Amino acid sequence: MDSTINDGRALQRLLDELGRLPGIGPKSAQRIAYHLLEADAEEARRLAMAILEVKQQVHFCPVCFSYATRDTCDVCADVSRDRSSICVVSEPRDVTAIERTGSYHGLYHVLGGVISPMDKIGPEQLHVRELLSRLADGSVSEVILATNPDVEGETTATYLSRVIRPLGVRVTRLASGLPVGGDLEYADEVTLGRAIEARQEV
Ligand SMILES: [Zn+2]
Repeated sequence: MDSTINDGRALQRLLDELGRLPGIGPKSAQRIAYHLLEADAEEARRLAMAILEVKQQVHFCPVCFSYATRDTCDVCADVSRDRSSICVVSEPRDVTAIERTGSYHGLYHVLGGVISPMDKIGPEQLHVRELLSRLADGSVSEVILATNPDVEGETTATYLSRVIRPLGVRVTRLASGLPVGGDLEYADEVTLGRAIEARQEV
């Protein structure tokens, strides 16, 4: 590490940083910090390196805006994927959730959020323009709207179906059965896989 400060607060700094992570309360932060104190230096170094490397090497795919470690993401780079279908999700973690089902073999498009007037997020703040330009050459015949089944997710899906349908592309939405107000990410693989297979035209 290049800039270490020895002010006697190293442990407190680690506790503060761990406590900022999602889902980690003060108790968990303490447990992790003491685990690292007792672990050998190599284990701590591997964790520190993994964090730095993910920040240095992972970027957004310029095609679908999912995470990528090479020029484009693994899905966009995979020639065996069905290029006539694009599944639209709000966040990169939703791609992981759908990939886990094994029920989908097309491409993805990550919006980078959902339409939310309360948070001043409209279509212009999302990767909608890039989605429409991917549809321009006519090679895509179906767009599956896989935003979460909550208010913002439904608003976003309704907006997208309205702008995509006039392009002559079939627009489908995940079948119901996903818990309303729930998060795609937390749906079990079987439920999510069924929702993809039973998708309906909107
Ligand atoms: Zn991609």
